[in-house]
Amino acid sequence: MAYRSADRRHGPGDGDLTILVVEDSRTYSTALCRRLREDIGLPLVACRSLNELHEAVTDDRAAFTLAVVDLNLPDAPHGEAIDFAVQRGIPTIVHTASFDMDTRNRIMERDVIDYVPKDSEFALDVLMGTVARALANRRTRILIVDDVMATRKLLARMLKVQQYDVVEAGSGAEALSLLERDQDIQLVVSDYHMPKMDGYELTRRIRRQFRSDRLRVIGISSSNDRMVSVGFLKAGANDFISMPFIPEELQCRIASNVETLAQIAQLHNLASRDSLTGLYNRRHFFEQAGPLIDRARSKKRSSAVAIIDIDDFKRLNDNHGHDFGDQALKSVARCLAQSAEGGGHLLARIGGEEFAILFPGLDAKAAMRQSDHIRLDVSHEALELGEHKDGVTVSIGVAEIGENGSLDEALTAADRALYAAKRNGRNQVSLDTA
Ligand code: GH3
Ligand code: MG
Ligand code: MG
Repeated sequence: MAYRSADRRHGPGDGDLTILVVEDSRTYSTALCRRLREDIGLPLVACRSLNELHEAVTDDRAAFTLAVVDLNLPDAPHGEAIDFAVQRGIPTIVHTASFDMDTRNRIMERDVIDYVPKDSEFALDVLMGTVARALANRRTRILIVDDVMATRKLLARMLKVQQYDVVEAGSGAEALSLLERDQDIQLVVSDYHMPKMDGYELTRRIRRQFRSDRLRVIGISSSNDRMVSVGFLKAGANDFISMPFIPEELQCRIASNVETLAQIAQLHNLASRDSLTGLYNRRHFFEQAGPLIDRARSKKRSSAVAIIDIDDFKRLNDNHGHDFGDQALKSVARCLAQSAEGGGHLLARIGGEEFAILFPGLDAKAAMRQSDHIRLDVSHEALELGEHKDGVTVSIGVAEIGENGSLDEALTAADRALYAAKRNGRNQVSLDTA
């Protein structure tokens, strides 16, 4: 009997995904399923033979997001289980104990995502990487540019098998207009020889608008002239592939470029966040505030800022210890994030126990109202760490950013208002009226 795991831990936006595992060795199947549950966290269905696979995959083919299939099974010695999965439209990764060029060729004849040999103690690590990548590819949009439809379709088919989200353009001009409209495209694979605009020119034009930390470009060409690769790289491409290409080379070069983008995004995120609270940091606040204020101004709307400072925080630290203080900071940050959520506001931790919120498009009165909600929300939070229990309050200073006023002026004004709130007894919101 096929065995269905009850574990259901979904990733964001993954919907109802299930992974199918086809593996005859009981020990290996157990280890494989354990790793998939730990690393990927999607529900699993495990089969030990082609027979069980027939039972598991009835007519609800859409129920399987991806299959990991052993090449050789006792009742399917020639990869029949792979054929069965592929024919039913299930994206398939082949896992195989026997591996040589002949096996490789037999696997690559089929429309599979990839193959992973069981040839080392790291085989499961490699397999987990391949599964994770295949799932991530569904969210990676690639633009293929080629004037020859047959080549374009061939590439598109290969990348779709890899689970990429593929869009196509038949010319440089069409590619540029697609890129303009669709900000989700992360990678362009472009041919060199195209009438009107060739691959170099397209790459140069792309680079005028998109830096390589945002959009990767890979050139392709069937030309024997090795200078074509140089031309692409000098025009701003990140990589080059000669045609006819080996599918694995194309796969790896694309995967490596997509991975670089993910790493850059992760670094951007780390550089703009405060590590204790996870909120944006001071640097990010000042970088983003200007454009948000300008956008509101262009719609003839004013904006406002609030500075939020925790009351008597030093005493909280002194009474309950620094760890308790850190907990309090996190708790206040969570509260602020919930209150600021969805409103298009910009929230950051700008100092030790000081936070700022920019309210783009809000006048002082509206910002005061929002700030008072925030103040109340924070005051209702109960803090607890071990035996220590306490509450926390905040004082808030608000200022409007006038028609010609600057963010700096508004922050100084909000600071003045904050000190007025402190002087008047704390746990209150004050507006700068100077
Ligand atoms: P007031 O109500 O006037 O704002 O008084 P306060 O005690 O909150 O203000 P003060 O500026 O005197 O003290 C701020 C304290 O915040 C001092 C500092 O040790 C503490 N602090 C700053 N950053 C952190 C942090 O990351 N973690 C912890 N636990 N404490 C921090
Ligand atoms: Mg304080
Ligand atoms: Mg302070």
